[in-house]
Amino acid sequence: MVSDGAWGTFLQKKGLTPGECPEQWNISRPKDILDIAQSYIEAGADMIETNSFGGNYFKLKGYGLEGQVFGINKAAAEISRKAAGTDHFVLGSVGPTGKLLMMEEVTVDELYECFKSQSQALEAGGVDAIVIETMTDLEEARIAVKAAKENTACDVICTMTFDKIMSGEYRTMMGISPKEMTETLLEAGATIVGANCGNGIADMIGIVKEIRQVNVNIPILIHANAGMPHYCDGETTFPETPADMASRVKEIIDAGANIIGGCCGTTPDHICEVHRIVKSM
Ligand SMILES: [Zn+2]
Repeated sequence: MVSDGAWGTFLQKKGLTPGECPEQWNISRPKDILDIAQSYIEAGADMIETNSFGGNYFKLKGYGLEGQVFGINKAAAEISRKAAGTDHFVLGSVGPTGKLLMMEEVTVDELYECFKSQSQALEAGGVDAIVIETMTDLEEARIAVKAAKENTACDVICTMTFDKIMSGEYRTMMGISPKEMTETLLEAGATIVGANCGNGIADMIGIVKEIRQVNVNIPILIHANAGMPHYCDGETTFPETPADMASRVKEIIDAGANIIGGCCGTTPDHICEVHRIVKSM
């Protein structure tokens, strides 16, 4: 199946400024959010995410919006549901809190409550599944999966962000391998695992292979960046074109991936090309 592409970089193109809370746009600029959601449906995505990646208590607190967790996430889900209708899936996006458990910036109970309330609000707005993404700390990911699983009726997807290290193996910033992720998150109740963000679609092939070695049945979701971001003159650009991304889709599917979409820098044009390849196979 085909998933959607980037939301964050799309919001920036629509005028989101660095100091602004992206999730507040669900309330203040719902038409722009609906337009992003519709763009991905029109591009051929079978499922779309919600504009709620940073919609957790701790991230919203940074903008003084911690009292609006329920309203902001419910609105995010309702907007994507409106675009998706009843024949496409909506995945409620849940990102990291930015608080480090190992530094004791937050407790396990606080994290659990935080992910519980966000997941419940997304479910109230009509999502089919919760997608916990861009995780680097396995313990935070595990708590998020458990909180979503135990407090909603939604399927729970979790993807972590890996880099290729010197040895050629893949690790998250906190040193977690795809194998460790898969074993731990399955036990926590995830129904789909995978990887998102990172340095482009080519690296995703090895990650998919490693997950497949651990488990032959678990559906794997890949949201690849459009390559490694380049920062220049305050502007971020991504090198991989829709054709670049599409050229790797067959390899990723052959490696064992089941759902392919994009992360940072990908656009409806990328998803349109991915869709074309997937449907031709
Ligand atoms: Zn990304």
